[in-house]
Amino acid sequence: MNLTKNNQIPERKKIIASVKRVVIKIGTNVLTAESHQLDTSLMEHLCQQVCWLMAKKKQVIVVTSAAIGAGMQILGWKKRPVKMEKLQAAASVGQSRLMRFYERIFREQGYNVGQVLLTKDIFESKSRKANALAAIETLLSYKIVPIINENDVVTTDEIRFGDNDFLSAMVFELLNADMLILLTDVDGLFDADPKNNGKVNLLSEVNSISDHHIAIAKRGTPSSLGRGGMISKILAIKKVLELGGVGLIANGKRPWVIRDIFLGKKIGTIFIPKRIKWTGKKGF
Ligand code: GLU
Repeated sequence: MNLTKNNQIPERKKIIASVKRVVIKIGTNVLTAESHQLDTSLMEHLCQQVCWLMAKKKQVIVVTSAAIGAGMQILGWKKRPVKMEKLQAAASVGQSRLMRFYERIFREQGYNVGQVLLTKDIFESKSRKANALAAIETLLSYKIVPIINENDVVTTDEIRFGDNDFLSAMVFELLNADMLILLTDVDGLFDADPKNNGKVNLLSEVNSISDHHIAIAKRGTPSSLGRGGMISKILAIKKVLELGGVGLIANGKRPWVIRDIFLGKKIGTIFIPKRIKWTGKKGF
């Protein structure tokens, strides 16, 4: 594939330019600093880029993590609890803190936000799914930014997603979105686990997820604050590809990551399906 002097892939740029509805999931490790505090200046930077996208007439749905992380910070808990009721308490405390920041940041840019807390069982019931869809579509029609998280406070083992990667793939499907961006604390999918290997190469474009990709992703370890890890991201993207959508995994701490993705710069790992559902083609 030919690169231009700006390090842009023309095909990637065209595909991304044609995206109308994008789900952006921001992981706990992106939203929290080393000290495990919420990184509000990074949140601000990311939200400003979401507004930039909205000004370009893209519809953006944010899936946020970090409720439990924020709650742990407020409660002074250094280690992620194991007991469900303590996780629920942390999520309850943290979710409102998280929303307070989103609400303030977006309001300063002239946008309102709507909190949407979902559980897995909603996706298993036709009528509840239809209700959730109608509510989110209405938010979007008023240019209100839906800020989605799992409703950790009321989830039990049986009805929990467990990680927001899978939740964001379900939201992608529900909303018939075009693209899912997973922002995490690594640059994308590597040919080996970057946390344990010195020399690894970033895979910049993947067209289908093979057993090899799954094996690489499985070697990545989930962090102490978030859940998931690379394997849940790859499985979420696999679902997106099966639906004909475009996926992208990138480092959410990289300055201007969202803006640069939409400028077509070669960032992270892009996953392009064999047939892009809104063009019927692979590429253009
Ligand atoms: N729903 C969890 C939270 O807000 C995040 C799950 C995840 O880390 O993917 O803390």
